[in-house]
Amino acid sequence: MFLSIDVMKEIKDIIIQSEFTKTDIIAMLSAQGDDEKLLFAKAKEIKEKEIGKKVHYRGLVEFSNICEKNCLYCGIRKDNKNVDRYNLSDDAIVEAAVFAQKSNYGSLVMQSGELASPIFADRIESLLKRIKIETNGALGITISLGEQTKETYQRWFDAGAHRYLLRIESSQKSLYYKIHPENKQHDFDTRLKCLKILQEIGYQTGTGVMIGLPHQTLEDLAYDIMFMREMDIDMCGMGPYIEHPDTPLGKHDFELMPLVERFNLALRMVAALRIVMRDINIAAATALQAIDPIGREKAVKVGANIIMPNITPGMYRNNYKLYDNKPCVDEEPQDCVQCLDVRIRLADASIGYGEWGDSKHFARRVEKV
Ligand code: SAH
Ligand code: SF4
Repeated sequence: MFLSIDVMKEIKDIIIQSEFTKTDIIAMLSAQGDDEKLLFAKAKEIKEKEIGKKVHYRGLVEFSNICEKNCLYCGIRKDNKNVDRYNLSDDAIVEAAVFAQKSNYGSLVMQSGELASPIFADRIESLLKRIKIETNGALGITISLGEQTKETYQRWFDAGAHRYLLRIESSQKSLYYKIHPENKQHDFDTRLKCLKILQEIGYQTGTGVMIGLPHQTLEDLAYDIMFMREMDIDMCGMGPYIEHPDTPLGKHDFELMPLVERFNLALRMVAALRIVMRDINIAAATALQAIDPIGREKAVKVGANIIMPNITPGMYRNNYKLYDNKPCVDEEPQDCVQCLDVRIRLADASIGYGEWGDSKHFARRVEKV
């Protein structure tokens, strides 16, 4: 039987390349046993060489679960009536930012459901300015507030946000429409356009995907990595898909990969992405921890360099349930500080306390222009 050279390549030969074909990436994503160990070790080595051993924190404030969209996988989608909706006050958000600063987290992430109203745009703009003032500009600020107009993105950038997270969820249009309603509000091309606008404005731009989605193949995931490389993204947050019982996808009886396999595949995605995009920031997604109590630390060991400790006040955390079994919903922000410190040291890494930990890839990308 004829096999192409591509198919016959071994993992040990693939991981030392600087260019990767789709077949190479699929091979990395399928690696098992000793091959998987080789993959993980190489990803760790590349991270330490390009970025160092430090993990940087972004204190995550999930300030509202009010969303006007209906992504088919997400627990806080508009049509889920079983959610108690909340919206933190401006004071509570600023207080959380001050907590992040005092805890020396270095950066803040503000995330919520998606709202496209002018009132929302105004609110975020003034909040960003307030946070900058009340924390003396000490915090790097990432926002993750969905699809917005160019003008809104620009205003938020001018007000002090300099990183934006907008996951493409799947780079494959056909799969995208299996996990989103096919309508104007959930348009694949709009999402893509938003990512490009964010880059043009000058944000450090992050995207990502869910891993283990119904109908998703390894080839889809390989295309996701190729998409991130082609888009020349600066940051990535990706994690396993976890079904939520009150969502159309969660209710459906799809054949899904067992959770443990989804978790292991997510680790291989992190490692493969680190090998393909050596100097970007890669977050260890919280969804990893929903499956394995030390899931995020395992991701740090195979290439991730960012952790987003949840600093949403405890009483609200339980209502920001994007997926089932979300970790640490009973904790208060201060509980996380010590807990994480110990965990990260166990993962053979240290914490860049008080540092922004900006994407090295971004710095190099901008220098090149
Ligand atoms: N509304 C914003 C930010 C909040 S959602 C947005 O959509 O961009 C943040 C991320 O949570 C999404 O990008 C999605 O990838 C992830 N998410 C939502 N539901 C999930 C689920 N069931 N399992 C795993 N991740 C999920
Ligand atoms: Fe809303 Fe984001 Fe959930 Fe989609 S993924 S329903 S936009 S919070």
